[in-house]
Amino acid sequence: MSHLLHRNLRRTPPVAVSASGITLRDQQGRSYLDASGGAAVSSLGHGHPDVLAAMHAQIDQLAYAHTSFFTCKAAEELAQRLAGDAPGDLDHVYLVSGGSEAMEAALKLGRQYYVEAGQQTRSLLIARRQSYHGNTLGALAIGGNAWRRRPFEPLLMDVPRVAPCFEYRERLEGQTSSDYTAALLAELEQCILAHGPQNLIGFVAETMVGATAGAVPPTFGYFRGVRKLCDQYGILLILDEVMCGMGRTGTLYAFEQEGVLPDLVVLGKGLGAGYQPIGAVLARAHIAQRLRDGSGAFQHGHTYMGHPVAAAAALAVQKVIQRDNLLGAVATRGATLRRLLRQAFGDHPHVGDIRGRGLLMALELVQERSSKTPFDPALALHALVKDAAMACGLLVYPMGGTIDGQHGDHILLAPPFIVTDSELADITERLGDALKAAL
Ligand code: PLP
Repeated sequence: MSHLLHRNLRRTPPVAVSASGITLRDQQGRSYLDASGGAAVSSLGHGHPDVLAAMHAQIDQLAYAHTSFFTCKAAEELAQRLAGDAPGDLDHVYLVSGGSEAMEAALKLGRQYYVEAGQQTRSLLIARRQSYHGNTLGALAIGGNAWRRRPFEPLLMDVPRVAPCFEYRERLEGQTSSDYTAALLAELEQCILAHGPQNLIGFVAETMVGATAGAVPPTFGYFRGVRKLCDQYGILLILDEVMCGMGRTGTLYAFEQEGVLPDLVVLGKGLGAGYQPIGAVLARAHIAQRLRDGSGAFQHGHTYMGHPVAAAAALAVQKVIQRDNLLGAVATRGATLRRLLRQAFGDHPHVGDIRGRGLLMALELVQERSSKTPFDPALALHALVKDAAMACGLLVYPMGGTIDGQHGDHILLAPPFIVTDSELADITERLGDALKAAL
């Protein structure tokens, strides 16, 4: 019996013992191609020498200093780099230990931003029905994943919700993409008006939906329209880039491809690329300025925030991405992955959609393609595919999502940015074997 409270209490997973490049190995001597970077985390693969060296150097010098007494060089440098690389005036950085913590911090920053201006009535955040923003109570309340929320509903704050931007499942027969987008924006505007802008903090969304529906990009103009509404009604735009940020879609931030500047950006996963637990909130100048001019402090904090070793690891990750032009690599290898997936599964009877951007791609599995009929949720097909893939020495990140009562199984692929073309071909072949075994 394991004393660890594992995710699954009935089944202990294999023991991982080592990893390098895009391969992980377990205690039984089996190896696995990491086609999902864990859960879209390991953007540099495993054992990157530059990141390890930076962490070792930092540990030798200063492993920890509490942020109520000190700042440290690594955290200052990381913040300077993130602020310098981010577009516009997203030039303040709050460092925490992961994506959920970063979402909590963003929600509280948003609330305090209005409290500092005497606008106490502002307490609501509008979110989307299909979304995942983390598992802590605030983040879980914002998220729309019914399965994750169900046992904890009584503990969660009320969150007004609008439709997600999910063309494959939600655009009506005969509706153009721009009409669909306009309808979504009209629904958001109605929601803002129904609750009253004076009661709202902001609108929260993943720029590209990650785990709940699998690599769903927004329609053209959707986020421009959202930004316009947020400006028109004076509410904040908070974008969750925990999964799609830090280069995963081919630009440092996915919102850069949408031509918008959010007020707050939530980061995790690829920021530390799995080398250390780290998350962050990027805030625009007007947010930091109001707090500075008001109470003078953000009323929040965690013991491990701004951790020197985590900051050093994240800084090294960002340096490698820039030095090795890995954003360019994401674009070209992403195009290769898309082509391989289309060749292998474009006509597959149970692959309804192949979607994504850069190296964040997904297959949606359906029972019947033309009607997009999903598989029976009781089958938990996504879990079967995951097991079959592991048996083929492949790690993919599968999920069964629920949207407006509709279930869909999808398989997320998010390989490290250093993946080679031949590894992508190997991944595609093994995925084909796994689907054969599971379907
Ligand atoms: N937001 C998004 C979009 C995510 O995908 C995740 C994790 O999967 C989170 C937030 C929560 O991050 P963490 O698991 O680091 O708390």
